[in-house]
Amino acid sequence: MMFKTITIIGFGLIGSSLARKINDESLCEKLVCADVSHTVCDQVLELNLADEVTTDIGKSVEDADLVIIAVPVGVYEEIGEVISGSLKSGAIITDVGSVKEQAIKRLQPYLPADVSFVPSHPIAGTEKSGPEAGFANLFEGRWAIITPIDEGEDSDAVQKVASFWESCGAMVEMMTPKHHDRVLGITSHLPHLIAFSIVGTANDLEEDIKSEVIKYSAGGFRDFTRIAAGDPTMWRDIFLNNKEAVLDVLQRFNEDLTELQKAIRRDEGDKLLTFLVRPRKYAKLLLMPSKKSRLNQIVV
Ligand code: NAP
Repeated sequence: MMFKTITIIGFGLIGSSLARKINDESLCEKLVCADVSHTVCDQVLELNLADEVTTDIGKSVEDADLVIIAVPVGVYEEIGEVISGSLKSGAIITDVGSVKEQAIKRLQPYLPADVSFVPSHPIAGTEKSGPEAGFANLFEGRWAIITPIDEGEDSDAVQKVASFWESCGAMVEMMTPKHHDRVLGITSHLPHLIAFSIVGTANDLEEDIKSEVIKYSAGGFRDFTRIAAGDPTMWRDIFLNNKEAVLDVLQRFNEDLTELQKAIRRDEGDKLLTFLVRPRKYAKLLLMPSKKSRLNQIVV
């Protein structure tokens, strides 16, 4: 057993996937589920995913040796406030939030000195939400990024969180929170922003064209709609909490798009071709056959 008691706060896609894996691998003696939603708690009971299920977030952490926060980043302060007085001395707190600098800023001030906070982020997910959407092998062969609060920190708590992710099937990488946010800004947050925007554009089209869009969406548009089907609250929190990196990469993207626009308008075929050739090296690297099975996942 890695931990005696684990509490997961927020039992959606990520929280419930972790619960399934924790149960399968017997990573703790007691698993506690805490979620504000009564509906979610009822589903968790029905699915038999935890030993204890509660909407009392503060009480849920009293015995926990490991607390996993799996809620949207926008409610981290709320969680911090509620759990701060109930945490056991020596407890390890980790999270799965898709942005890290703001996650730390929002949560850490509430945590007492005798607990260890080890922020993390599994690069795995789907566009679905809720406890029924989770599955045990979501993290299999995926990266779990740990962003220790003190740069280069290699404490016992960091090691334990790293081992935990490995037990969930993930490969662990360490980086600074700032670096994490910049990398995910381009690899995940910008693509999602573009997808939300394109699907929004299609939605605003006149009714007759809209039905054609749906009918012929087997092309690239289908992938955009899947990506844009992610939970709106979660995505709002990601964009607002990774503002700097998202705006920076969006600016660069807009500049490139303007260049493309100009090249098309001016019939500059060579320039256009240079642009279109550039992405091929990434496509070759990313779409190698061994990685094929991963293409059905969305990286958040
Ligand atoms: P989800 O399926 O929407 O689950 C989140 C759960 O947290 C919901 O049950 C929600 O209840 C609950 N919740 C909201 N506010 C709460 C509060 N104050 N106290 C307790 N529970 C609360 O979301 P998810 O996809 O698992 O994402 C959770 C976290 O993982 C986010 O920070 C996200 O950035 C990160 N993440 C997501 C993915 C992905 O692909 N989805 C991948 C990696 C990391 P309600 O339904 O009532 O709001």
